[in-house]
Amino acid sequence: MKNTVAVGDIAKYPICPRMVYLKLQGKREIPTSKSRRGQIEHRKIEKIVKEGFKSIRPYSATRTPEKNIFAQKLGIRINPQALEELEMMLSGADMKFFDYRLVSYRLRIIGAPDLIAKRGWDCIVAEFRGASSSYVTESDMVKIGAHVMLVQDVLWPELDKGHLVYHKVSENPIKEIYLSRDLRTNVLGIRDNILLMQQTGKIPEYKKTNHCRRCGYFVPCEKLR
Ligand code: SF4
Repeated sequence: MKNTVAVGDIAKYPICPRMVYLKLQGKREIPTSKSRRGQIEHRKIEKIVKEGFKSIRPYSATRTPEKNIFAQKLGIRINPQALEELEMMLSGADMKFFDYRLVSYRLRIIGAPDLIAKRGWDCIVAEFRGASSSYVTESDMVKIGAHVMLVQDVLWPELDKGHLVYHKVSENPIKEIYLSRDLRTNVLGIRDNILLMQQTGKIPEYKKTNHCRRCGYFVPCEKLR
């Protein structure tokens, strides 16, 4: 949608602004095996949550990180402790929406949080992260920050925080992220940079990053150099 910015692009920007530029130019991102696995894991978590976590109960005796039944069956890794904490976090939630698309014309941001849950007068917003540690990157921060701002603006004005669920991690897999003034300013600053990029079409400077070797835009990016 013109004159709006996708939350996914806001999250990509701190990793490399050129990725956002190439996406805006209509270049196709080649999915990596990690991103494909991430999609499968998201769908699996969605199914487990929708089934009220029943599907993991028969295997509780073997629920260790090493002998995870889902890993054996599907070749994916969802940590059982992370699932237990997710179950606790969602206890009592009466409505759960996955990938529910939201548009804020006021903020000029569009996005679909991985999960929005309603519990009485409370609202929970969560993003699932497939990283092997629960180290919160700037990309993770601005992604959850932008989603909290969206939900706050469109659905739940009282919302003041979101959750990052690191589903491969056993220790402290869920991080609470408050929408501080700094985080809001950071999100809006990135949004403005992307809007400017949309308007001017200016190519961000090439800067080799750690992400380059697994970047889905590697080929079109090299062609621009
Ligand atoms: S290959 Fe590197 S510089 Fe190019 S878009 Fe990807 S991360 Fe950015």
